[in-house]
Amino acid sequence: MTTPCFGCAAKVTLSNQEIEESIAEQLALEINLVTDDEWQYRQNICQKCPQRVGPTCGKCGCYYKFRTALAVKTCPEGKW
Ligand code: SF4
Repeated sequence: MTTPCFGCAAKVTLSNQEIEESIAEQLALEINLVTDDEWQYRQNICQKCPQRVGPTCGKCGCYYKFRTALAVKTCPEGKW
């Protein structure tokens, strides 16, 4: 899947597996995560959100599966 880089004009091509691995690697470094129930709740909202572009939030540019796991983060649209 090709997803736009929100930090520059480059197009970056990553497979879904590479994206999942990247998210898992980054989450392993985080210490302030939400509970599994809260993570699933947030992801369910993102999955139905018109701002989502594949694995990415079109509003903030984060992988939604990553952002939703972080306790200090909120939805830029105020949905969670
Ligand atoms: S973080 Fe918010 S705006 Fe972005 S995809 Fe999820 S619900 Fe939508």
